[in-house]
Amino acid sequence: MMKILLTGLSIFLFTTCSFNTAETILVITGGHEYDSVNFIRAFKSFDDLQYDHMVQPEANQVYSSDSIGKYDALVFYDLVQEIEEEQKAAFIDMLNEGKGIVFLHHSIASYQDWDEFLQVLGGRYHLESKVVNNDSVPASTYLDGQDVMVEIVDRDHPVTKGLEEFIIHEEVYNYVEVIPNVHPLMRTEHPESGEMLVWTNTYGKSRIVYIQFGHDNNAYSNPNFRKLLRQAIDWVCE
Ligand SMILES: [Zn+2]
Repeated sequence: MMKILLTGLSIFLFTTCSFNTAETILVITGGHEYDSVNFIRAFKSFDDLQYDHMVQPEANQVYSSDSIGKYDALVFYDLVQEIEEEQKAAFIDMLNEGKGIVFLHHSIASYQDWDEFLQVLGGRYHLESKVVNNDSVPASTYLDGQDVMVEIVDRDHPVTKGLEEFIIHEEVYNYVEVIPNVHPLMRTEHPESGEMLVWTNTYGKSRIVYIQFGHDNNAYSNPNFRKLLRQAIDWVCE
């Protein structure tokens, strides 16, 4: 009798697990202040999503660890410059193995001196002006409190599915470098903003999405932002 019960239980557990589609992600912050209560509310609002939260520089130590294997994707909302050479190598290894990444808002200003990071994220916010190949690259700029009309560039993409043109109250960035091989998903004609707001990129076997939104709770609580973020996580996890 006990054996039958146990067999029944194990079949039940196996069946439950095989239908469990929940994704597990690692949310990484640090190096820039933000509204932590309302930021994490966006992740709590997502069904079938489990998340851990790590603050830099701790996250830079886990790319090479066994614990990274439990995450389907990483969401970066940090702004840091320090990373060791072994940590860079582990980060690139992780991408060559296919870890999905979503970068939010100010994470585009991380690792100003790491050239390969530009190829990973697909763009860079330049904290200072500089000269590259005799061309002067201006410093990027930011302006908070803008009502930004957002247009969808690619409506057929899983990340933008079901989203229509919308307005978001946001901080805009201008003079952001974007590499030519990214796939644009959202843009704006706001006069104080760079054109491209959301794009996808690939690196190694990894899918990458950059979402420029996310300055404060005007973004975190915006239903369009939440839908975009949820669909971006889903897409990079595949
Ligand atoms: Zn901001």
